Amino acid sequence: SRAALIDQLTSLPNRRLIEMRLAESLDQLKRYYLPFGIIFADVDYFKQINDTYGHAVGDEILRMVSQTLSANIRASDLVGRWGGEEFLLIIQQAAPHTLAKVAEKLRMLVENSGLHHGQDIIRTTMTMGAVVAREDEDFHALIERADALLYEGKTTGRNRVVLEA
Ligand code: GH3
Ligand code: MG
Ligand code: MG
Repeated sequence: SRAALIDQLTSLPNRRLIEMRLAESLDQLKRYYLPFGIIFADVDYFKQINDTYGHAVGDEILRMVSQTLSANIRASDLVGRWGGEEFLLIIQQAAPHTLAKVAEKLRMLVENSGLHHGQDIIRTTMTMGAVVAREDEDFHALIERADALLYEGKTTGRNRVVLEA
């Protein structure tokens, strides 16, 4: 059923659907050489938002981020909720420089969005790891490469995009 593939909180594709789409995209890369990239994106200091404003506001922030990401990619691309405050994007036709542009645009849009909460506007940022898919890897290896770059971004200041060297 549809529910099995859609995340309840955000209405985005869930991990299972992301994995299906990744496997398809890798298949198309091998068969037709249709290049694509992925962006692994994680909300910065999200625990602080929950701790400060409560879990329900944390949920609202996740919906806001989901909306920002999904409204600013192409129809042929995909953004899903990987889990928790982690999102995975599949960007089609992505040479390294276009992938970098897309990720940086999304990072900036998240940074500039805010959730009204009483007198406050709650803001957040995301750190992202972005990689172009290789023909000879499966989706586990692909995600692992993006995750390693995301981790690098977390340890070097957050609110930034890290691309493969
Ligand atoms: P970092 O900048 O290193 O990513 O720090 P962080 O605080 O974002 O990361 P951490 O992994 O420490 O905390 C993630 C938090 O996300 C912990 C967990 O309770 C919360 N979380 C996971 N899923 C949900 C959810 O569906 N709703 C809410 N409100 N919180 C969630
Ligand atoms: Mg986080
Ligand atoms: Mg996380």
